[in-house]
Amino acid sequence: MADVRDLYQEVILEHSKTPRNHGRIAGADRVAEGENPLCGDECTVYLRLAGDTIAEVAFEGHGCAISKASASIMTTTVKGRTLAEAERLFEGFHDMVTGAGPAAEGRLAVFEGVKEFPARVKCATLAWHTLHAAMEGKHEPVSTE
Ligand code: ZN
Repeated sequence: MADVRDLYQEVILEHSKTPRNHGRIAGADRVAEGENPLCGDECTVYLRLAGDTIAEVAFEGHGCAISKASASIMTTTVKGRTLAEAERLFEGFHDMVTGAGPAAEGRLAVFEGVKEFPARVKCATLAWHTLHAAMEGKHEPVSTE
């Protein structure tokens, strides 16, 4: 089990050091801002839609390794999905890290261990809450508090 845990940490560290889809999208259809005041994490999510499909997704922000890795992996997971699919992924991820549901699909499962650390749940879910706000077209910044 220790090996598996090490692997998961490596994935998280790698994504936090080299985040995917980092930056802004020129001409984004949707933009939302989020913050996790408890840890000092900030995240802005940009979406470009093609119908109801997420054609492009990117984020900017700073914060702890968990928040950055989660934002990076969130973008790689929802790109090319429909808004309804992305919403289901958000719900599944949220249930997993709060211990309310089973491990999420694919790479998202690397965050399952977060449920053992309630203070880090908000770090892991910030990018997803911000994505959710962007999908709903909210203009007020979202806060995990
Ligand atoms: Zn954090």
